[in-house]
Amino acid sequence: MNERNQFSGVNSIKFNRAFSTDEDCFRYLADIKWNETEFQCKKCGYTKYCHGVKPFSRRCMKCKYDESPTAGTLFDKCKFPLQLAFHIAFKISTKKKGMSSLELSREFELRQKTCWEFKWKIQQAMQSSKLHPINGIVHVDEFYIGGPEEGKPGRSKGNKKLVVVALEIVEGGVGRAYAQVISDASNTSFKPFFETYISKDAKIVTDVWKGYIPLKKDYPNMEQMKSEKGKNFPDLHFHIMNIKGWLRGIHQHCTEERLQGYLDEFHFRHNRRSNMGTIFDVLIRKMIFSKPIRLQSVN
Ligand SMILES: [Zn+2]
Repeated sequence: MNERNQFSGVNSIKFNRAFSTDEDCFRYLADIKWNETEFQCKKCGYTKYCHGVKPFSRRCMKCKYDESPTAGTLFDKCKFPLQLAFHIAFKISTKKKGMSSLELSREFELRQKTCWEFKWKIQQAMQSSKLHPINGIVHVDEFYIGGPEEGKPGRSKGNKKLVVVALEIVEGGVGRAYAQVISDASNTSFKPFFETYISKDAKIVTDVWKGYIPLKKDYPNMEQMKSEKGKNFPDLHFHIMNIKGWLRGIHQHCTEERLQGYLDEFHFRHNRRSNMGTIFDVLIRKMIFSKPIRLQSVN
């Protein structure tokens, strides 16, 4: 693996200088794509190549297929210049609150729908790798998005969307967090979320909701504590307020699938807020190694 020129930092002047042409962006993609994985022709599997005719492409020496650095990545079939795609990825990853599709369309003079579709792809890349479950102290709770939450004892869902969130409590503050849209506040809905994001050894604390009780079987260090209107879970409630405030500012109504995209975006930034220097590079890497997606199914 060769040393590659990794962009770091959040300085937009440096960013503009580093990615002033489409060529700069193609080179960056090629450096990641073919430094970290060996070239293997997508059509015939052959591993010998020469330079292709597209920018920084590789051409299979057997079947002559000319593979662009964008092929097979989330930059595939992008409707606008790659340089713009890089600038959008930079803004969304480095601005504290990201950018809405409306703001993106104004700033980059693209149709809002085009921005919205590309942002959806970015959100797919922002999904957690699910490889690093939280170990240690974890506070868990659920909350509603899209409607008043008062006066609904028993956690009936109505037409709102329910989200479960886990927050790591570390010395002097909070660590990582994950959130997922769930269909109801039952043990069966919580279980896959726990299994994905929380280690079996973690010291989990929830409020006294009965839906959590059966999970004690798999999570022996779990305990339940009265919430006292959030007073016993101050960090978690602050985190939930932040999510809600952010969502209120950027979207009104959306499907559960879209909401999950927003939650993934929020937590991608949250979980890297101490590593902002590499956040853009991490996003680009994830966009390269994510499979291209079709957008017809998204509303
Ligand atoms: Zn080939």
